Amino acid sequence: MIYLDNNATTPVAAEVLDSMLPFFGDKYFNPSSMYEVAGFVRDAIESSRGLISEMLGITNANELIFTSCATESVNAAIFGAIAANPLKRHIITTVVEHPAVLEVCKSLVRDGFEVSFIGVNDRGELDVGEFVRALRSDTLLVTVMHANNETGVVFPIERLARVVKETDASILFLCDATQSMTKLPIRVDGNFRDVDMIAFSGHKFHAPKGIGGLYIRRGVRCRSFLIGGHQEFGRRGGTENVAFIVGMAKAIEVAAATHGEDVVRMEYLRDKLESGILELVPYVVINGAGAERMPNTLNVAVHCIEGEGILYQLSDREICASSGSACTSGSLEPSHVLTAMKIPFTAIHGSVRFSLSRYTTESEIDFVLQEFPIIVTKLRHLSPYWDQVNNKPRKDVKI
Ligand code: PLP
Repeated sequence: MIYLDNNATTPVAAEVLDSMLPFFGDKYFNPSSMYEVAGFVRDAIESSRGLISEMLGITNANELIFTSCATESVNAAIFGAIAANPLKRHIITTVVEHPAVLEVCKSLVRDGFEVSFIGVNDRGELDVGEFVRALRSDTLLVTVMHANNETGVVFPIERLARVVKETDASILFLCDATQSMTKLPIRVDGNFRDVDMIAFSGHKFHAPKGIGGLYIRRGVRCRSFLIGGHQEFGRRGGTENVAFIVGMAKAIEVAAATHGEDVVRMEYLRDKLESGILELVPYVVINGAGAERMPNTLNVAVHCIEGEGILYQLSDREICASSGSACTSGSLEPSHVLTAMKIPFTAIHGSVRFSLSRYTTESEIDFVLQEFPIIVTKLRHLSPYWDQVNNKPRKDVKI
């Protein structure tokens, strides 16, 4: 099996699984219990928090809380900020956010909030002018993703957060770093110094599903979202998921150890796949080409055929890819990200996302390059938009 859907989720790394196992065995204690043996479990949580904090340049470990996933982190940040700052009712976000942010913002509009949804150009880059113009005296929160899950396009978070803080230091800046965590540099004492809150999810970097994190800078007014016990400094009640917390810290540690070489290799393989497809398959376009992109993501629009058809054919050859974000690929709705980029209709429907990991090998990429042109040719011969005689799109199809 060739797994090229790592933006949807990743396999748990062997080292990560090993680090978690004791907490399913004899280290099962509730970290809040007073007896001595529970102290080991409590310490495991705090050393995991310390390790992740160090990697992100967080100085006060209580600025990092553990959650169940990025969706929870984003919800906690947005609703927590709203609850703590009831007088401000304007929010800024982008049209290409993951549903974890976008759907929350849409629901806030239904609740009477004003939300500015900032657009992107045809490369998927944010309209920074529109972003700056949207800032208002009653803006409570800006929520912008670091890297897009569908195209891999990276937003200039450092610049955006600086503009926000220079305009009005009281506006909160939340960054959804779910896709970029461990792949792009994130330092709250460096490039993210003006970012107030950061959301992420362990399963995107070889930790298990069901564990996430939320950084909240000290002093940021954000009310607790999950009210209950005193866990997580009273910011998120509920008995801690110790094994998964330990696993997520291990995953970050493992990723950091080989980060430089992993990025170079992923980028080399992604570029090989990209240039190979462009060379071997006519009438394809790379979504997000020309923009700064994550090193592991390739979103390719194949004109005149359905992405789902390509996925089924890939699946028959035991190649796993995706036709959009994991959440939207189950439906036939066109991707909101590609729609916002004004990608032509016939190309949106033929878009396929390949997302690599540090475990992707060159022979896997070579196999995809061997099979992909065969699949496209086969499907185009069945396509009503494809002129079989001339081997090109029908004249009335706009490319
Ligand atoms: N944000 C982004 C950019 C994502 O890609 C995802 C998942 O794909 C999420 C948020 C939600 O992550 P989770 O499903 O782990 O809550």
